[in-house]
Amino acid sequence: MPPNGCRIPGHGSRPLIKTLREMPHVAARAKGLPSMNTMVSLGFVQACIFAFLACLCVAIYFGLRRQSSLAWLAAALLIGSIAVLVLGQFSGTFLEQLAVTLLVPSGYLCLGQSVGLAVGERRRSPGLLAAVAGLAGVSFVLLLAGIPFIYQTLPFQLACGLAVSDGFIRLFRAPGRSALDICLMFVVAGIASAFFLRLPFFPVLFDSAASYLSIRDSSFEQTLLRFNAIVTPTAVFLLLAKIVGGVITTYRTRSERDGLTGLFNRLAFDEMIRADPSSGGALILCDIDYFKQVNDRYGHHAGDEILCSFAKLLARAGQPAARVGGEEFALLLPRRGVAEAAELAEMVRARFHAAGHPLIAADHRLSASFGVASYEPGDLLRDVLTRADSALYRAKHNGRNRVETYEDGLVPILGGRQQAA
Ligand code: GH3
Ligand code: MG
Ligand code: MG
Repeated sequence: MPPNGCRIPGHGSRPLIKTLREMPHVAARAKGLPSMNTMVSLGFVQACIFAFLACLCVAIYFGLRRQSSLAWLAAALLIGSIAVLVLGQFSGTFLEQLAVTLLVPSGYLCLGQSVGLAVGERRRSPGLLAAVAGLAGVSFVLLLAGIPFIYQTLPFQLACGLAVSDGFIRLFRAPGRSALDICLMFVVAGIASAFFLRLPFFPVLFDSAASYLSIRDSSFEQTLLRFNAIVTPTAVFLLLAKIVGGVITTYRTRSERDGLTGLFNRLAFDEMIRADPSSGGALILCDIDYFKQVNDRYGHHAGDEILCSFAKLLARAGQPAARVGGEEFALLLPRRGVAEAAELAEMVRARFHAAGHPLIAADHRLSASFGVASYEPGDLLRDVLTRADSALYRAKHNGRNRVETYEDGLVPILGGRQQAA
């Protein structure tokens, strides 16, 4: 919208800028502006960076995963970008003050919401949000009424400080803070304190008739503005890193974990064997006995629960565990011999057989069979599994609920149990 087309309530159809120029406190500060071109170009670059980051957030939001924290961050950046543009274009005018009064608290509120959602703290503080809106509203009304700047800016500074504090409170409440969260907390606290610092210092440093420009260009305000110009983009970058890092971690976890049991999947396990820097080790392959009957008798849900409890039992061994098939699991034991691995397998077997399950009949004893094989550096999971499967087949063949080891020199049963069956 062209600037002259803006109207303010109570001023009939007179153009906004013209009306404002006639206001004494605005006319006074319209003179003697510092290097406008520099301010405009720097502001433009800053606005472009904010707008670019906002577009990036929107792209990630739609492209990867619809994270609401990204939407709030995009909104904060968009508001920031508009605010910087207006400040550059209309420096020293009433529009600058208007933009600052309305956009800055909104931008920081969006940033606070984004921070809260990024750290998983969804609880809102309605009182705080209402206070921010109320104080920004009061500041806006005082601005329109032409009240001296010092009175108009105090509720505004408080509104901004509280808006940023919302992000800080949510970070503080969030469980399990990472190093990145702590850095973000310090930066957000820095932004909030810059606003709160103005509250006691403005009335002390400036008299009540001080104009907007004289305060804005004072060394005290310039120092705070420079500080803000460093900490706000830092907060944005940290937040972006937090959100994007979270999305990548989620996808990585999904790509290498089994959805039902949370153990590694076959692909991740394969990579683990290939990347194992040790001089080989042992692998235990396990298969729950007569699992189809469990499904048939107690239902698929009970079957899933039993798979999960078996997975927990394996995870307790403290070694990388994977679900390599429907009711087939594997344990990787780097730097361990076959005999040691067989001992561990025997322990797991005994525990699983001894434990009942609340979803099955009390007299129904579950069991699993185990095959153990060694692996050498650089072996493919497929080859190690073939050897372990051969031992597992023998365990099934010899009556199930037992552990068998693959011995060198024995010709592996081609295709494992399926082929032999
Ligand atoms: P064996 O002792 O020879 O291993 O017999 P089994 O019944 O355990 O083996 P079989 O291969 O005949 O059946 C495996 C069953 O595992 C069939 C399938 O329905 C079940 N199964 C595979 N994946 C899942 C799953 O994710 N959840 C549930 N509940 N069942 C599954
Ligand atoms: Mg089975
Ligand atoms: Mg099976």
